[in-house]
Amino acid sequence: PTKLRVSEAFLDAQVGEKVRIQGWVRSFRPQKQNLFLHVNDGSSLKSLQVIAPAAMNDPLLGFGCAVEVRGILKKSPHSKQPVELEAEQIWVIGECNPVDFPFKIKERHSLEYIRQFLHLRCRTNAFSSLLRIRSEATAAVHSYFKNNGFLLVHTPTITSNDCEGAGELFQVEPPGTTFANEGSFFSVPVYLTVSGQLHLEVMSGAFPRVYTFGPTFRAENSQSRRHLAEFFMVEAEISFTESIEDLTKVWKSAFGAAASDFTIISAYIFLSPLHLKDTLDDMLRKSFPVITYTEAIDILKRSSETFTFPTDWGCDLMTEHEKFLVKHCGNIPVFVTDYPHDLKPFYARDNQDHPKHTAAAVDLLVPGVGELSGGSLREERLDLLRSRLGEYLDLRRFGSVPHGGFGLGFERYLQCILGVDNIKDVIPFPRFSHSCLL
Ligand code: ATP
Ligand code: MG
Ligand code: MG
Ligand code: MG
Repeated sequence: PTKLRVSEAFLDAQVGEKVRIQGWVRSFRPQKQNLFLHVNDGSSLKSLQVIAPAAMNDPLLGFGCAVEVRGILKKSPHSKQPVELEAEQIWVIGECNPVDFPFKIKERHSLEYIRQFLHLRCRTNAFSSLLRIRSEATAAVHSYFKNNGFLLVHTPTITSNDCEGAGELFQVEPPGTTFANEGSFFSVPVYLTVSGQLHLEVMSGAFPRVYTFGPTFRAENSQSRRHLAEFFMVEAEISFTESIEDLTKVWKSAFGAAASDFTIISAYIFLSPLHLKDTLDDMLRKSFPVITYTEAIDILKRSSETFTFPTDWGCDLMTEHEKFLVKHCGNIPVFVTDYPHDLKPFYARDNQDHPKHTAAAVDLLVPGVGELSGGSLREERLDLLRSRLGEYLDLRRFGSVPHGGFGLGFERYLQCILGVDNIKDVIPFPRFSHSCLL
């Protein structure tokens, strides 16, 4: 018999064929005449119904166990499922003790509950859907950049600079070495990367469009719903960029790239119905509003009577402010531009608008999450770079061009398009303070 993935069993062409499938039992109903089970193998949300004569029952067969089934695929008399597998043989490949198994048959478990079992949550519909979407979205990000002429650069994980200057570094040394002295492994203090941007900027000196997409590390104290100690960031850098609009155009279409192929994604959706196709399509059809930081502060101050998070010009936006602004702008993504220079990293381009002193820096705020992405035009004028970062300054001496880029948190992106409240539910193995399970 042909070995099929469960999703392939639903293709019409297979009806009447003798096949075998392997997977895990998602439901189990022994009746007088027949046994009914559903088998899922992670290939899609669908589970295949298997019917077997009651005599085939095996004490090891039950919810959660791994099986191989051989039989004939038949059209099903029930409208809910187009095909079913009439079993000729069933083998229990791996038994499952139902008492210890944390998921119970027919129960709908919350994301918080299944998160306690990192090693088993991929066996739930909710999390396996998420993993398929995450994988598709990853591929969509790469194909978007490839199709738009970007070069993929593998930026290093170990770096000797604090790109963001936000002081959220993890320092790295082999066990037993003293940190940051002559005897240390690299002879200089080194850290896990907090951003690939400086390395992308290096490459953008020869390739006008570059991107990277990899793990990023920040020692966040926060127990927030949108911060992890290890997350994945999509970063792009574009040379010969004169204006923020050059940047936001790419930014918006990159945002839409993974989300727009909803024929794929909707087949996997199991999570919150909040942000399903219509909302997302609607969001992508509109142009994203652009407001300045100064306008944003005005909006927030005008609304301060109904809103308990006061702010003032010069303060960074808190998550609550960002979510409020998104709602205020019609609950679609919004670009906020021209932040105070002091709030953004040293490399953001100075707008030279004394006395306000802002930078050509932009954040993209999205529903449900707030800040999804941050970017800027980079300061290409050597004399204006006050900070002295050896090679960074050199980059401005040999054929420097106006350029800009952005970094987009991939987990926050998934949170936004799927309406998932907690970032820990969109990554297979979440790392945060006091937690590095598995
Ligand atoms: P925040 O203000 O939320 O702490 P940030 O301004 O420090 O974010 P950036 O340095 O602008 O973050 O990084 C670019 C993007 O990376 C952010 O817009 C966000 O989507 C994502 N990001 C940053 N820190 C984290 C984190 N700890 N966990 C998950 N994603 C993150
Ligand atoms: Mg931060
Ligand atoms: Mg921020
Ligand atoms: Mg930011």
